[in-house]
Amino acid sequence: MSDLSILQQVFGYPSFRGAQAEIVAHVAAGGDALVLMPTGAGKSLCYQVPAIARARSGHGTTLVVSPLIALMHDQVGALRELGVAAELLNSTLDAAQAAEVERRLLRGDLTLLYAAPERVTTPRFLALLDTLHAQGRLALFAIDEAHCVSQWGHDFRPEYRGLSVLHERYAGVPRVALTATADALTRADIIERLQLEDARLFVSSFDRPNIRYTIVEKRDATAQLVRFIEREHAGEAGIVYCQSRRKVEELADTLCRHGIEALPYHAGLPAEVRQAHQDRFLREDGLVMVATVAFGMGIDKPDVRFVAHVDLPKNIEGYYQETGRAGRDGLPADAWMAYGLQDVVNQRRMIDESPAPDEFKAVLRGKLDALLSLAESTDCRRVRLLAYFGESSEPCMNCDNCLQPPTTWDGTEAARMLLSTIYRVQQTSGMAFGAGHILDVLRGKATDKVQQHGHERLSTFGIGAAYSEPQLRAVLRQLLATGALAVQPVALASGRSFDTLVLTEASRAVLRGERPVRLREVATASAAGARRRER
Ligand code: ADP
Ligand code: ZN
Repeated sequence: MSDLSILQQVFGYPSFRGAQAEIVAHVAAGGDALVLMPTGAGKSLCYQVPAIARARSGHGTTLVVSPLIALMHDQVGALRELGVAAELLNSTLDAAQAAEVERRLLRGDLTLLYAAPERVTTPRFLALLDTLHAQGRLALFAIDEAHCVSQWGHDFRPEYRGLSVLHERYAGVPRVALTATADALTRADIIERLQLEDARLFVSSFDRPNIRYTIVEKRDATAQLVRFIEREHAGEAGIVYCQSRRKVEELADTLCRHGIEALPYHAGLPAEVRQAHQDRFLREDGLVMVATVAFGMGIDKPDVRFVAHVDLPKNIEGYYQETGRAGRDGLPADAWMAYGLQDVVNQRRMIDESPAPDEFKAVLRGKLDALLSLAESTDCRRVRLLAYFGESSEPCMNCDNCLQPPTTWDGTEAARMLLSTIYRVQQTSGMAFGAGHILDVLRGKATDKVQQHGHERLSTFGIGAAYSEPQLRAVLRQLLATGALAVQPVALASGRSFDTLVLTEASRAVLRGERPVRLREVATASAAGARRRER
């Protein structure tokens, strides 16, 4: 039976999509593969069809390693409905049920067996595999969500590391690893960790043309979000991502008070509440889920019309993964993010203060920088996003910058003024100051603090008076985003800390005017055109 007839007769689909046919043929013939495909593109069939083909030709059972219990249940349920012998082994089964699955596995009754990574590497499970292997009845290993093996991925799961045992112990059994996120670094890490050097690499386009990307400057994120939902997505389903649990709860409340039906979701809520909220989100129409990144993996809701970020994600992979949950049905959907100075400060600080080794931090900083340059960009967002995944493309005409090319202004002079003020102030007082104070000096505000330090006597006092505060904040943000300025937390006696601004190696080029600073025009709240732009 051909791969295509399996697709048609078992799954009821007329044809393969994209690279599926090629991948299926390669894997069914016993080749190793690493498959990179965006969410919703149809990764599951890439191992399910080969599993059926190989079982029919007498190769035995395919083991599918998957990190999420809910996802396993869905897949096994769907396969059984199609008449495919599929089972799962995980912590939700009692001993008798597990024993029954094991018995069927050994009897050769199963085409697919799904298991969690921590189970696969137990001695008991490996003994089962040993038996099958000895009889030549291990057809294929499918490792889903393979980026979990990489600490550079956004969802590192240490249990995935143990999966290298599969190749070491059963070298002749073909393997297919699949993921929807892998920048160059994560990809290399998957190959190394899972010893897939000889596997064929299948990379699909990561473009999601129906998603419109918009990144706005954050002023009052809550108000901006409410306006965005009311104007663009009233009554529609969406996900709003926030950084902290507290913010999740506050924002869900606020949305409800504005008549937008919203539910909170984060890891601190009791399991029953999380489950209930997730079920409602999937089942009901038009609910908004306000969540931390704990929500979303494995959620297959086709009609999510928008994904909003009110806080900056950690990197482009996270951003892509989270925004990718919008518009899985192929209909127009929005990826909307509000981004501001504090986001840059927070993310930088989280990296600085993490206990990770320096070379690890350097990688995290590099990844954050790539996301910041996407957020600061005045050209096509999609071109930048895809370029990050190694794809080149043309301006998309479906992102904020393409649809409404931003007017920019030359912030080079303002940036030089800012940096020299920071330098002078630190020189004079022998200590670093925060953004508020620097802006006061620059704009010529003789506050108590300014006078107390004698900063009204500096040559830079008031030289930036011609710029508005939002303009100068935008300059600050871009300098921080591009590393021409750094934040240094200073511990206060109270035990809290205070962020100060310090120059970096990269400041020099800006100070000398060698590195131009281009900024998007800061919209003023009163201008009608600006309000449209801020969407
Ligand atoms: P992924 O794991 O890549 O996110 P899935 O494997 O869950 O994607 O597939 C997404 C959806 O697309 C599923 O509903 C699946 O049945 C459907 N699908 C995948 N391949 C095909 C195909 N060749 N023809 C029709 N539908 C498909
Ligand atoms: Zn574009």
